[in-house]
Amino acid sequence: MKIAVINSGSSSIKFQLFEMPRGEVLAYVLIEKIGEFISDTTFKYQDKKLTVTSVVKDHHEGLEKIISLLNEYGIVKDFASLDAIGHRVVHGGEEFHSATLINEHVIQKIQELIPLAPLHNPANLEGILVSRKKAPLVPQVAVFDTAFHFHMPKEAYLYAIDYELYEKNNIRRYGFHGSSHAYVLEETSKYLKKDASALNIITLHLGNGSSACAIKNGISIDTSMGFTPLEGLMMGTRSGDIDPSIIFYMQKELGLSVDEVDTILNKKSGLIGICGKNDVRSILETEDEKAKLALTMMARRIKKYIGAYMALLGHVDAIVFTGGIGENARDVRAMALEEMACGIVIDKEKNRENETLISAKNSSVKLLVIKTDEELYIARESLSILHH
Ligand code: ADP
Repeated sequence: MKIAVINSGSSSIKFQLFEMPRGEVLAYVLIEKIGEFISDTTFKYQDKKLTVTSVVKDHHEGLEKIISLLNEYGIVKDFASLDAIGHRVVHGGEEFHSATLINEHVIQKIQELIPLAPLHNPANLEGILVSRKKAPLVPQVAVFDTAFHFHMPKEAYLYAIDYELYEKNNIRRYGFHGSSHAYVLEETSKYLKKDASALNIITLHLGNGSSACAIKNGISIDTSMGFTPLEGLMMGTRSGDIDPSIIFYMQKELGLSVDEVDTILNKKSGLIGICGKNDVRSILETEDEKAKLALTMMARRIKKYIGAYMALLGHVDAIVFTGGIGENARDVRAMALEEMACGIVIDKEKNRENETLISAKNSSVKLLVIKTDEELYIARESLSILHH
């Protein structure tokens, strides 16, 4: 079966075509800078790679470009011949607890959730609307970043603020990166040969955006991102947890506007705020003190979350690292795990080699490095909807 996965951002479309259930990638297309003067298209199929610059006015033209590339290279004739299209949707609010077949009602609900994810849901929706136009008869599935966290207990998702703000204004923890945490759970289950519903694990998705998740018996019971993806771990450009009073202080005492504070916390904080760079690979190549400090701070916050989630979960089968940093930045993993409590011991050699199992034999908890694949997860979820 041919299942396409579309991750539609405000100025980009990431498209992957999978042969399912094998999970083989038949084609990959990334169009960036949509709506700008010149857009960049990267097209990969088999082991070939092509880059093109052209004008791509909007998502509609973007999708047309993707279709014509697939056609030109003999991969698929047109969108109508696909078996399903899976869409990444960032915010499913309290409405969606699993992948959902898209219809008018679902579209309306995603639209209603825009105030909760003003940067993401409109772009996700645009991708859905355009591909429904192109392939009206192909089943289309929405896979929500928030869905995996839907079953968090109330004491995990409520903030200790006026209850009415939750009831009337939907202010609560939602959590994000759900497709990644869920995918990594599935892969951990395969690796440990233990049913996912019997697994207690801590997953650490460490990329440009980062989040930790406490998974008990296969269910997310807590996660570090909250009402928005700003909370929790220290990230590339986002602060993660701070004292909220800092925001009032910046406004009242420093005279900054709401938008300026928003930009500071989302775009000028985290690693870039401390050392001027947000890319861990280039930070690792830098010798200066601030670069070292930034990574030490990041690792320390990861360690604190591991400790908190160990306490919440009681028994833990594995701690799993994923995302660009989790999968590759062995120094960050080593710093987060060194002199760890609870008998957790890293095998430095295996960690250096980026092996899947990086814990020492005598470690009380297995430490794993597992590559995430959110697109494959979306394809799998779309397939399972077709089978229902
Ligand atoms: P996104 O959240 O945008 O999907 P990724 O999961 O690709 O991000 O993670 C990007 C981060 O991973 C960057 O900070 C990058 O420097 C880091 N990274 C990628 N490869 C390596 C590597 N080999 N060593 C260290 N860090 C890496």
